[in-house]
Amino acid sequence: MESLMSNGQDIPLSRPDITALEIDHVVQTLKSGRLSIGPMQEQFEALVAARADTRYAVAVSSGTCGLHLGLLALGIKPGDEVITTPFSFVASSNAILYVGAKPVFVDINPRTLNLDPSQVEAAITPRTKAVLGVEAFGNPSHMIELANLCQKHEIPLIEDSCEGFGGTHRGRPIGSFGRLGVFAFYPNKQITCGEGGMIVTDDERIANLCRSMRNQGRPVDPIDPAEPAWQAPGSWLMHERLGYNYRLSEIHAALGVAQCKRLDEILELRNGVASKYMSRLMGMPDIILPTVDPETTMSWFVFVVRLSSEFTAENRDRILAGMRRHEVGVSNYFPPIHLQPFYMRQFGYSDGDFPITESVAQRTIALPFHTRLREREIDLVCQTLEVMIQREKFTIDRAS
Ligand SMILES: *Cc1c(COP(=O)(O)O)cnc(C)c1O
Repeated sequence: MESLMSNGQDIPLSRPDITALEIDHVVQTLKSGRLSIGPMQEQFEALVAARADTRYAVAVSSGTCGLHLGLLALGIKPGDEVITTPFSFVASSNAILYVGAKPVFVDINPRTLNLDPSQVEAAITPRTKAVLGVEAFGNPSHMIELANLCQKHEIPLIEDSCEGFGGTHRGRPIGSFGRLGVFAFYPNKQITCGEGGMIVTDDERIANLCRSMRNQGRPVDPIDPAEPAWQAPGSWLMHERLGYNYRLSEIHAALGVAQCKRLDEILELRNGVASKYMSRLMGMPDIILPTVDPETTMSWFVFVVRLSSEFTAENRDRILAGMRRHEVGVSNYFPPIHLQPFYMRQFGYSDGDFPITESVAQRTIALPFHTRLREREIDLVCQTLEVMIQREKFTIDRAS
């Protein structure tokens, strides 16, 4: 997520939408004197649970922490295998490594860019203890099939919904398909806390385990001795299990509450930008646009187009560089996880292991995408893209 704020770029790749409401919530929290474990966390959890239509929501300090606790709560341990996608942000697979389990990659569907359920089923073995599915770029396609498949094989589905907060599929909210779902609130996500995450589930046992583990393994709802209501000596310094400090501060939660209150407005603005890109780029011959299932209400995370198959990774990278030279923030979401230096070294993966993922990843271009993007800027982005593609085609033609 290198060029997130795109330091000084005229048209940045991403930009959080912060208004007076967010500033007011944060200032009020600072004035309240209560900076951790308080009413903002509780409110934020209630708002996210309502949106995801789950009984419980547990706030944590990042999406990555949420995935870690989710896997721990499901009892995933060293020696276990978890089936997941190589076409994602690295955190979805890293979390599996945190608990000592092995990520088993399965290639994606080239249209939806998500795990292909039939390939997942073929990869299930007695060592498979969970499936970790990702809604790539916010697209929930196949998540219900994956959930049904997991149910049939009696293994849990972990839904990495870090890119899909607010979207729905067949009338059901993203985050509600798995045994648990995880949202993230980094500044380039639909809504942000600065840093933050949330685990959502209908399972009380999982919710309580996550609450305890995010707070140093304390019993659920321990009493902080600094609070006047302190009555139960010992509970604050009692640690029932191995825990972590994955708490979300009240300051971060206050930001999250304000953003949640504005979620519909934010999603509508993002939807408007996506529609404008769609209609503007529809006729362009060298570009593959994102496909959205008719039964899906997208919560757009990023707007990623793909070049057609005559283009190589080198062509794509020169187009990205050309756009950046013209002050347009772009990115190559996502280089395949199995081809990250650490994964190649540690697990011996190489080029060609997951051909669909690789072929897609070589040709992606994430365009500037945020709520404030104006029509003129969208036009400029599309024109720049068009020129860079034409220039690249000219060099391809000349070389052949
Ligand atoms: C953003 C993201 C995460 C991690 O979220 P953080 O809050 O940055 O830790 C995990 N998985 C996916 C697919 C993401 O896009």
